[in-house]
Amino acid sequence: MLRAGRAGRARAFRTRRAQARGATSACHCRDRTGSRVNCVSCPLRRVLSNHAQCARRCAIDRLVLWNIDLTLIDVGKVARDAIADAFNRVTGRPLAALPQLAGRSDTEIFFESLYLNDVPTGAAEDADLLARYCHALESAFAKRHDDLVREGRLLPGAHDAVLAVAGLPGVVQTVLTGTIKPNAVRKLAAFGLDSILDTQIGGYGSDAYPRGSLLLEVRRQASEKYGAPIEETPAVYIADTARDVEAAAIGGARSIAVASGREMAAELDEAGAEAVLVDLADTAQVLAAVDRLTRPMEANANR
Ligand SMILES: [Mg+2]
Repeated sequence: MLRAGRAGRARAFRTRRAQARGATSACHCRDRTGSRVNCVSCPLRRVLSNHAQCARRCAIDRLVLWNIDLTLIDVGKVARDAIADAFNRVTGRPLAALPQLAGRSDTEIFFESLYLNDVPTGAAEDADLLARYCHALESAFAKRHDDLVREGRLLPGAHDAVLAVAGLPGVVQTVLTGTIKPNAVRKLAAFGLDSILDTQIGGYGSDAYPRGSLLLEVRRQASEKYGAPIEETPAVYIADTARDVEAAAIGGARSIAVASGREMAAELDEAGAEAVLVDLADTAQVLAAVDRLTRPMEANANR
């Protein structure tokens, strides 16, 4: 029997270490083109010749969270129609007054809609009512899949930006959104973003927590899944409202604000965003901002 040489033993050690860190064949490592790579079974240093520490990538070095609506995509009309449909189905009333959607979760939107439309609710009924609404909203959205593609749009540069960030060393990307999880995944899938982002983790509107707390929870999830200490993993939240900027600060993340939503660049700057972009069209600019704010030394120096 042939004995493994020194290099072979080192490779085997790195593989075992990656497995011990929880890396599986379903890990989210990617090569520079954004294609998924199987870290555990790939012959380390052979498949990724430009990526000498394949096993190392299974441990997360930085976490990037994307907001979805008006940061990556615009599906406003379809979302409004689905909300009105689900509201009517659950309450038996038309949605005559629609609250502000930007920066709000589906849960917040529902409760505010109840108030604005004078629907009487007992506190004891709320949990059940919310569960039924979320179920109705999922069905209403599924029914509109074709509209999503036909009437919705990717915002300029969004796909290229997410793909470019996927090439940063040790990065894991996910979402922090007010949309309930099944609908968030549906939105991402409609525009080819679901395979680049890790939606097993992430913060969604199905969880009725303030967004800052949710961000902290996503950092915890990422830490658990990828085996990296939460406090040592720089995180950045890329989103389009001042409320998102505030959530990033509460959740211990850096913030990049994109003025592609309802709020102007000056407002986002005023809210304390650490980088403000007009949109995502300049891929190099997005990549540089993410890299700067999540580089371990830079992230720590600014805390
Ligand atoms: Mg948004």
